[in-house]
Amino acid sequence: MRLFVLVFLHEAFRGHVTPPGHPERAERLAAVERGLAGLAVERRDCPMGAVEDVQRVHPARYVDRVQAAVPIAGWAQLDGDTFLSPGSIDAALRAVGGICAAVDAVVTGAATTAFVAGRPPGHHAERETAMGFCLFGTVAIGAKRALDVHGLSRVAIVDFDVHHGNGTQNLLWDEGRCKFISSHQMPLYPGTGRPDERGAHGQILNLPLREGSGGKAMRDRYERVVFPALTAWGPELLLISAGFDAHADDPLAGLEWQAEDYAWLTERLCDFAGGRVVSTLEGGYDLDALAASVAAHVTVLEERGR
Ligand SMILES: [Zn+2]
Repeated sequence: MRLFVLVFLHEAFRGHVTPPGHPERAERLAAVERGLAGLAVERRDCPMGAVEDVQRVHPARYVDRVQAAVPIAGWAQLDGDTFLSPGSIDAALRAVGGICAAVDAVVTGAATTAFVAGRPPGHHAERETAMGFCLFGTVAIGAKRALDVHGLSRVAIVDFDVHHGNGTQNLLWDEGRCKFISSHQMPLYPGTGRPDERGAHGQILNLPLREGSGGKAMRDRYERVVFPALTAWGPELLLISAGFDAHADDPLAGLEWQAEDYAWLTERLCDFAGGRVVSTLEGGYDLDALAASVAAHVTVLEERGR
């Protein structure tokens, strides 16, 4: 039987525990579950990620260093806001396994679309630097798997998280087979993402958006800049870094998008790559906004996957 939309989850994601008050907390998973409730999706457990998949973007010494830093109890701190708990490596590797399984399913036609509801997020992790709550560059790892294992020649990543996907940009700077497009509030953490950051092959497109600019400005910029760029690129697979922290209620930023904006954007993105879309959760820190935005996003993936 052909499956249409797969949602990848795993209990290990609850085992990545951050200190009290940290916005990237395990409770986000319950909000994602509320968003998925009632949707006709096929659920799968994320398999454990393979080291060879991680090592397409991170050197072995970095993986060893993160692994060695995992505490026996409590937390280890990797940067100002990135923490490891005893379950963090399992969670991060399940997110890697989830995106790789999602890419496999969509590229082989076992599913049309897929959503990986994992944490920690990944788009800030650079080659040898964990940062911004992120350990491994999940979406970049998924793109590399599509290119190197499945032999695709053109993939695209659209990162609509409110923060710039500096990690994805760093990991894929030299990757001429992957178009990377990030829209983000600027100025904001991590400070990168200027339009003149274009990648070794001119394949990176950064779209800074002004604080308070709202959903209408986003739609206009995507219509005028992003969709024509994607049409020109002609990707065989589209990956989405789906952060929902551009929502008006999010405490970390101020782009003032609404859940309907995520539905609109998802709908339009499904027009590319023959509808072969793999999405992975990044940010989104107001729990109600996260639930509503995930519902809007996955509802469209489900409808378009039929
Ligand atoms: Zn973010």
